Amino acid sequence: MGFDLQDKRVIVTAAASGIGQTIARSFLDAGARVHVCDLDEELLEAFRKSAPGLGTTQADVADPAQVDRLFDDAIARQGGLDILVNNAGIAGPIGPIETLDPEGWNRAIAVNLTGHFLCARRAVPLLKQAGGGSIANLSSTAGLFGCPNRTPYASSKWGVIGLTKTLAMELGPSGIRVNAICPGSVAGERIERVIRAEAESRGVSVDDVRKSYLKQSSMRTFVERDDVASLVLFICSDRGAKISGQALTVDGHTETLTV
Ligand code: NAD
Repeated sequence: MGFDLQDKRVIVTAAASGIGQTIARSFLDAGARVHVCDLDEELLEAFRKSAPGLGTTQADVADPAQVDRLFDDAIARQGGLDILVNNAGIAGPIGPIETLDPEGWNRAIAVNLTGHFLCARRAVPLLKQAGGGSIANLSSTAGLFGCPNRTPYASSKWGVIGLTKTLAMELGPSGIRVNAICPGSVAGERIERVIRAEAESRGVSVDDVRKSYLKQSSMRTFVERDDVASLVLFICSDRGAKISGQALTVDGHTETLTV
């Protein structure tokens, strides 16, 4: 089943590596025109070289002026916008709340929630001009469950669902669909970093934490980046034409996030 995304104009944030890069490559493979941003200039340049036709802007999504530059660059290249994928999100500090500093909290909220807001406010006039479109916001299963020792991350991801629901109502009459994507733990370097930090904070072994993470899902599995990209492409294509305001999981069915 193919997705009708030929020549769609797409922005994916934080896409020089990780899930964002897989999403951007999947849109390119489907014939879309893709512009991405990332904080990391070297990773961005390497991605640009490996993906002919890709547009890139070095930008921090938490900074309004840099988000403006991203959108100015993308409009200059693509002439408009049909799809925004708000992918940027950092793990944030991990540990009991009394050990967390305000800077770590502020940065997690700034990247994970304010970044989505800043990109959406620039995207919406363009999506209206296009006569409709789609916004996919990366949340997490941590936006649906309590997640001990990850207060900044979980709070920001619940915030993303609030933003999604509210924008879906605001923008539905203009033919703009807004959905949140909630992956479970995605196999890769980032989840390994989180597992190591969790093990250190609780004084237990990395292997024990990994096993308990796997046991969080009924299918006893981590998710692959491609699983997330497939859902994003489906939801942004005409196949998802009547789906809006949803928090869609791709997680093998999470039962709990306690470890
Ligand atoms: P990642 O940690 O691998 O980072 C991907 C990219 O984000 C990197 O290239 C990095 O340079 C860039 N980045 C970081 N901060 C940025 C900023 N302020 N502005 C622009 N770029 C920035 O991330 P990932 O694991 O690919 O996660 C992508 C999204 O999926 C995030 O929103 C994350 O919260 C969510 N998610 C991830 C998992 C997981 O297990 N990895 C699970 C659920 C949800």
